Amino acid sequence: MKEIILAKYGEIILKGGNRPKFESILVGNIKNSLKNVAETDVRLAQATVYVEVADEDKMDIVMERLTKIFGIVTVTRAAVCEKNIEDIKAKAKEYLKKDLTDGKRFKVEAKRSDKKFPYNSPQICMEVGGYLDDEYPGIIVDVHNPDVTVKVEVRDFAAYVYANENKVQGQGGMPIGTGSKATLLLSGGIDSPVAGHMISKRGVEIDAVNFFSFPYTSDRAKEKVIELASILAQYTSKINLYIVPFTEIQLQIRDKCPEEHMTLVMRRFMMRIAERLAAKHNSRALITGESVGQVASQTLAALDVTNAAVDMPVLQPLIGMDKIEIIDRAHEIGTYETSILPYEDCCTVFTPKHPTTNPKRENIEKSERRLDGETLIEAALAGVEKIEVYPK
Ligand code: ATP
Ligand code: MG
Repeated sequence: MKEIILAKYGEIILKGGNRPKFESILVGNIKNSLKNVAETDVRLAQATVYVEVADEDKMDIVMERLTKIFGIVTVTRAAVCEKNIEDIKAKAKEYLKKDLTDGKRFKVEAKRSDKKFPYNSPQICMEVGGYLDDEYPGIIVDVHNPDVTVKVEVRDFAAYVYANENKVQGQGGMPIGTGSKATLLLSGGIDSPVAGHMISKRGVEIDAVNFFSFPYTSDRAKEKVIELASILAQYTSKINLYIVPFTEIQLQIRDKCPEEHMTLVMRRFMMRIAERLAAKHNSRALITGESVGQVASQTLAALDVTNAAVDMPVLQPLIGMDKIEIIDRAHEIGTYETSILPYEDCCTVFTPKHPTTNPKRENIEKSERRLDGETLIEAALAGVEKIEVYPK
């Protein structure tokens, strides 16, 4: 039996006159994401994306990819029927054999967007429901509390049948490419990949920056960051990752600044360098993974001092989340297992014993003046390595 995948989108529907533009970006993203996976035909009509897959064995992988594309709310496989009621009934019976087992309570819901079809929606429900009830004597009609909702959609080119319960949740959000670009400060930790996912889910393209302190941080730590970027790229497509050599800055901070100021001075250097890279690559904002109070450098006073180092907006999508909530998200998006690999991050190597939790901006700035900031930043930028990271 011929099957198709139906992907429904969400928020784009609210876009009024801009809707066609958002739709065409979504379809472009879908085609791009599937091009190396399977031969497919992707069409959009009536708020639904229809994906035909040439090779039936590739249906599952295509489904899996579609659940990672921002903008899509649900994805389902469906049987393709001819637009006549007899074929719809026959296909519904055959296709839903595994769902309509004895004792199951069911109902039929129909949607007819082709108004020329001779049965209206209630009539389709009656016809198909009555037929299934006759053909499967063990099932029970229950319109209030069904186990299985049989969906029949009569559309322009064909009719489709599926069980609502077999729908898979998509990511939701907005298609990438509808919301300009931001630069994610990507550490090897749990938080920043989640922060990147949350902002890209709003349609924002992402560049990533990692600060790397060789030899204090190992090549394995770098591999871990690349791996995290490649997991994020499953949602965003290719990510440009900029690796910034940070050792010299950290050594100078350690040697010249008061120990309790080390972390904040370091964070401010990161922000400034990220801002320069962002501006160069047309990003409109920075993204970091802080949440209020999580560690000493994430008190409100410390966040103020850190963010004051830059003019660009700093997006901190995790700001009000608990660690447990962030970890749940990391599991959902698939970054957690990589994030907890034990390789050191550049910050963990130079962590003060007693970091200040209530810093004053002028004191931190005074510590900073012991360094030749501009020269250090330019040297770091001159050593940046760019890595194009593709979906894992
Ligand atoms: P994460 O889990 O993302 O590492 P964290 O809770 O360890 O966060 P901090 O170490 O205080 O927090 O860092 C705060 C934010 O600064 C991170 O979420 C990340 O955006 C950025 N950051 C920290 N270290 C690096 C690094 N080595 N490279 C790039 N960004 C970094
Ligand atoms: Mg960290």
